[in-house]
Amino acid sequence: MSRIAGRDTKPEMVVRKLLHAAGFRYRLHVKELPGKPDLVFPKARLVLFVHGCFWHMHACKYGKPAPANNRDFWAVKRAGNVERDVRHRAALEAAGWRVAEIWECETKDAGLLEAAVVRVAGLLRSQLQEL
Ligand SMILES: [Zn+2]
Repeated sequence: MSRIAGRDTKPEMVVRKLLHAAGFRYRLHVKELPGKPDLVFPKARLVLFVHGCFWHMHACKYGKPAPANNRDFWAVKRAGNVERDVRHRAALEAAGWRVAEIWECETKDAGLLEAAVVRVAGLLRSQLQEL
């Protein structure tokens, strides 16, 4: 599970649009793979998660603050997400997938977003060359 909020959230849409425009083709939310990755590039054998910073406890200003109410509840829930992320990544890598992430906070800043998409595009190209 990469997000709790559900499919087709805005950060993911932004990333999808840019990678599509760059000529990459992907499948979405592939249930058969660990963690149901948001974007799957079968030819490049690469999966991409677009992670919400709060839910996946990114070390950024969006990921850090815990809600004042029900602090323990949120802490347990978010820690569980992070634990699952680690497990899913290990399972994917063991199955021969390259795992990439783009964080929600990167999609909120034009410069960071461009850098993130360039990073993933570079990974995709090098994967395609290797395979
Ligand atoms: Zn973040």
